[in-house]
Amino acid sequence: MNYEKRISKVREAMAKLPVDAIFVTNLMNVRYLCGFTGSNGMLLVTEKGSRFFTDGRYRTQSADQVEGADVVIYQDPPELGSHLRTAVSEMKATQIGFEATNVTFARVDELRGFFEDAALHSTKNVVEDLRAVKEPEELDLMRTAAHMADDGFSHILDFVRTGMTEQDVALELEFYLRKNGAEDVSFSPIVAAAERSALPHAHPTDRLVEEGRYLLFDLGCKYKGYCSDLTRTVVVGEPDSRHSSVYEVILAANEAGLSAAGPEKSAREVDRAARDVVEAAGYPEAFSHGLGHGVGLEVHEGPTVRTTSDDLLKPGNVITIEPGAYFADWGGVRVEDLCVITESGVEVLSKSPKELIAL
Ligand code: ZN
Ligand code: ZN
Repeated sequence: MNYEKRISKVREAMAKLPVDAIFVTNLMNVRYLCGFTGSNGMLLVTEKGSRFFTDGRYRTQSADQVEGADVVIYQDPPELGSHLRTAVSEMKATQIGFEATNVTFARVDELRGFFEDAALHSTKNVVEDLRAVKEPEELDLMRTAAHMADDGFSHILDFVRTGMTEQDVALELEFYLRKNGAEDVSFSPIVAAAERSALPHAHPTDRLVEEGRYLLFDLGCKYKGYCSDLTRTVVVGEPDSRHSSVYEVILAANEAGLSAAGPEKSAREVDRAARDVVEAAGYPEAFSHGLGHGVGLEVHEGPTVRTTSDDLLKPGNVITIEPGAYFADWGGVRVEDLCVITESGVEVLSKSPKELIAL
């Protein structure tokens, strides 16, 4: 990854703000800007240079991973404070931006003490906005992560039988993904049987997989830090006409969303295109969430694809298109694809079959 280039883009963004430095504390942003993957690290980017701070546990790891910034190891918070004061005075920064969505009130008080001779300014989404537009190298990693999720879905269809619990199936899915190259799952897999498929964020339970009902899988994995996200809904045994008709509507909504997405398209209108299909079917209230979200180092990041989104899609955005319809006590369907906005439309990364599968 070209960390120097990313840091120079942070400096371009800083030039439009009343700051001459940004103190990056969101660990995903830290990773994005200098490569560090540990659990404690902060990056101070000024107009003149950048300095990375971590504690003694990460001496070796930071020496191996951090690029484009000088590494400073500290023992305790007072020592961190004195290193930060030294850094800002050496790099002549006086107006420090902090990441407002990542710090608590307590942390802001602490930062006031650390940067006692500088002014603090709240900033939002400086690094997140850069992360939302993926570089070709990131897209390659996401294609691999999406492929792993497809492979996991295909495996779990072979594995699952009636009488297994959701938990049995979810564990097998996670084990398979991790055994086959995923460094982690992007989130604990959702396996929702029968009426539980009507819960958009069902947590696997001891509910049994049952004949003649929906079975919903929502899964994703991480590859070199990058997440995938995939949902498919199948019917165990023979679908009845209601299973088929709700499925057809949601599949059509997914396709309408994919067709509407593209460069310079408003994310809100993409949501609208999919939602219109569900509304025309007569159950708008059954589609009870936004159409999608950005994916990258985090499984939920920018841009947002929902009715209230102000985001405009750009080439390099990676988003999900995941309409659903949920009917309490009966079941629900969601069909989720991961796609990249390209110069001319979308590239769909999820390759799992989309016609209704009868297991
Ligand atoms: Zn998902
Ligand atoms: Zn999703």
